[in-house]
Amino acid sequence: MESMTVYLNLKCNIDCEYCFVKKNNSFMDRPRLEKILRWFIGQDGPEKRVNFLGGEPLLSAGLLAGLKDFLRGINTAGKKIVIKDIPTNGILLDEAMLAGLNKEGIKLVFSLDGDQFEHNRFRINKRATFDRILGNIELYKKHNGMPGIKCTVHPEMAEGLDKRVAGLLNKGFRSIHILPVLGLPWSREQARSYRESIDRITRFYLNFLKAGSHNIQIHPLKKDMDRVLNGEVFDNRAGCGLGSEPVFMPDGKAYACTAVMHYTPELMEKFRIGHIDTGVDVRKMGSFLNYKVCQDVRTDCTRTVPGACCRKICLCVNTRTGEFFSPENIATMFEIDAATFLSLNEALAWNR
Ligand code: SF4
Ligand code: SF4
Repeated sequence: MESMTVYLNLKCNIDCEYCFVKKNNSFMDRPRLEKILRWFIGQDGPEKRVNFLGGEPLLSAGLLAGLKDFLRGINTAGKKIVIKDIPTNGILLDEAMLAGLNKEGIKLVFSLDGDQFEHNRFRINKRATFDRILGNIELYKKHNGMPGIKCTVHPEMAEGLDKRVAGLLNKGFRSIHILPVLGLPWSREQARSYRESIDRITRFYLNFLKAGSHNIQIHPLKKDMDRVLNGEVFDNRAGCGLGSEPVFMPDGKAYACTAVMHYTPELMEKFRIGHIDTGVDVRKMGSFLNYKVCQDVRTDCTRTVPGACCRKICLCVNTRTGEFFSPENIATMFEIDAATFLSLNEALAWNR
C-alpha cells in the first residue's frame, strides 16, 4: 500500500459544470486526519504517498499546519513519506497561506483549462476570476518556480486542445496534466476531435524531446511513452488505484476508489471498505484488484480498445444523472482514456 487519498473537504468556492464531487459542508478535522495518517504510515511498505483532495483543498489549508513535524514524529520506521502536489483552483491562495504551505514543504498544482474565456466557460457562477488565478500563480512562482497545471478537457472543448496546451507551454509552464472530463457523455465527434488534438500534441511533444527539451512534461503522455517503449500492451490499471489505494472521506469512511463515493448509494456500499474509527478492511480493498466493470455495468467488449475495458468504474457513470452510460458511451470513454497511449503507440511504431 504505497499511496492513499484523503478528501480534506467536500466544499468548493466555485462550481464547475464538469465537477464530479458531490459537494456539501463536510470538513475533515485534525484529530481524524492524524488518526488516518498514523494508520497509513503503520501499514507495510517503505514508501508512503499521500494525495490530498477536495472540494477545494485550500479551504482546509489550516489543517496542514505542523504536518511535517507530526509526520516526522510518527515515522519511527524511517519510511519515505511524500505529500503529492495538491490540486487547487488557485483562487484562495495568498502570501500567508503560501508561507504556511512552504513551511510544510507542500507544493500545489493549479487548474487552468486555457485562456480566460475557455477557462471560465464551464465555471458556472463565473467567480473563477482568471486574473486573480494568474496573479496567484505569479505569487507561487516567486517562491517555488513554475507550478504544474491541470488542464481539464470538457467534451465541448475537445477541439483545439492542442492549441490550448501549446498556449500553456508558451506561457512557460513545463508540467501539464491533460484530464478529459469523465462522467459526461462524449459524442463520437467529440471523441474524434479529442484524439486528433492528442495526435497533434503527441507530435509536438516528441519534437520537443528530439530537440532536447526534456524539461517539458505532458501527462499522461510521459508515462504512456515509457510503457509503449517497454512494449507494454494497453492496460488502464496503470492509472487506477482500485485495490491498492484506500480513499478517506472527511467523515472518516474509507473506500476502494477515488470517485465512487460521488455516485450511487449501491456503488458506495459496494466499494466501501470501512471507517478509520472502526477499522479498514484491507483484504476487501485488495479484492478490487480483480474487479471488472461488467460485474455492475452492461458493456460491449467488442466495441472497446483491447485491454482497456475492465476496471475503471469512473468511465461508466453519468455524474449528472447518476445513471450508468450506455455500452456505446462506455466504449467511447474507454477510447478517450486510451487516447494518449494509442497515439504514442502509433507515433512510435517505427521504434519497435
Ligand atoms: S474547482 Fe474543482 S472541486 Fe471546485 S467545482 Fe471546480 S472541479 Fe469541482
Ligand atoms: S476506478 Fe477511476 S476513480 Fe476509481 S480508483 Fe480507478 S481511476 Fe480512480
